[in-house]
Amino acid sequence: MTLPNGMTPEAAREQAARTYALDRAHVFHSWSAQAALKPMVVTAAQGCYLWDGDGNRLLDFSSQMVNTNIGHQHPKVVAAIQEQAAALCTIAPSHANAARSEAARLIAERTPGELNRIFFTNGGADAVEHAVRMARLHTGKYKVLARYRSYHGGTETAVNLTGDPRRWPNDHGNAGIVHFFGPFLYRSHFHASTEAEETQRALEHLEQTIVLEGASTIAAVLLESVPGTAGIMVPPPGYLAGVRELCDKYGIVFIADEVMAGFGRTGEWFAIDHFEGVVPDLLTFAKGVNSGYVPLGGVAISPRIAASFDDRAYPGGLTYSGHPLACAAAVATIEAMTEERIVEHAAHIGANVLGPGLRELAERHPSIGEVRGLGVFWALELVRDRDTREPLAPYGGTSPAMTATVAAAKSAGLLLFVNFNRLHVVPPCVIGEAEAKEGLALLDQALTVADGYL
Ligand code: PLP
Repeated sequence: MTLPNGMTPEAAREQAARTYALDRAHVFHSWSAQAALKPMVVTAAQGCYLWDGDGNRLLDFSSQMVNTNIGHQHPKVVAAIQEQAAALCTIAPSHANAARSEAARLIAERTPGELNRIFFTNGGADAVEHAVRMARLHTGKYKVLARYRSYHGGTETAVNLTGDPRRWPNDHGNAGIVHFFGPFLYRSHFHASTEAEETQRALEHLEQTIVLEGASTIAAVLLESVPGTAGIMVPPPGYLAGVRELCDKYGIVFIADEVMAGFGRTGEWFAIDHFEGVVPDLLTFAKGVNSGYVPLGGVAISPRIAASFDDRAYPGGLTYSGHPLACAAAVATIEAMTEERIVEHAAHIGANVLGPGLRELAERHPSIGEVRGLGVFWALELVRDRDTREPLAPYGGTSPAMTATVAAAKSAGLLLFVNFNRLHVVPPCVIGEAEAKEGLALLDQALTVADGYL
């Protein structure tokens, strides 16, 4: 049987062997010690599935880096990229072009409130870099507050904003960033036992941090609307509204990072839409904006901050800002998501298949400490002991139990997103009910391996 891209299995295997050899000879991989790497070769991908170099089909519950919200090879988006390539591949950012103008309109129509000006970047980290730069120039202040248990990107400021161990080797304490604790009831830093207590105490803690750091020194508070890689902790009711109030009270810019949570992942266009009336001053996006078919990110900017740069130049830019191929992919993606009601579908799958299915797994698998999430954005917190909540792998590390569980899932045909002691169930927004159930069944088998380590 040929692969979805038309390759025969023999040709795919042959190509995979060469790909692997060249990769190991010449490719330097991100976030990794190079010597021990054994990257999986992917020869084809379609919808929610991909094929490895040995011809195995895998159901992708990771959406790669949580970016393929419309699945692989969506025909309308592939066609739009091809058409744009035939019409105009590239153009300097100083010129206006149709794909960029239209992408900006479609994004501005969907972002909350009046975030109507769009600055395009090549991805998420540079979107965060620019949002912070805008906040600093707008306020004339420098410090930025960000939470522990967060990820904001791999470039210099973005990685220093990040509240996870990937920051440590890049952190010399001089980036002008202060971290604070956000709400996370399962591992509450505030000894809270209810969501209401967690909200109130987390907001008191943030206000204390602002007061003690000095509001006159703080340009911005940066938060993922729903933290992603760090654990999919949906903020309890009232928290983000409280952050908005504190930012207004102290003259601080509120930046919502929607790079992972945006564009349908949570069952709304943006995760912050779950929190009625909360509108950030700046909103960063990437990934789902065009499912990563061509690299694209950006910042949606409030009128007040945009006006700061009406009469003085904004000191920043990129050769590929608003790249036509990337923007054409965004236009086609957003149109397809709208026409095919993909955001509503993600909400439905979360509420009626993944949420109930994962909770049912938690009833039978003692290794599951908590299930949390919404839409197609779920985390399983795996523990050695439900009472002590001791994680199945230490913070910042892995363990034989986690490695064996993930390997079991993969050999059964399921690709998961893993971080420390957590499995993230983050399939494309387009996943069908039958596919989601198939994935849950494979996950069920793999979790028996985790249970065996308790
Ligand atoms: N912000 C968040 C919330 C992310 O999840 C990520 C990437 O995972 C980034 C920023 C960085 O995006 P990129 O990898 O496109 O630079």
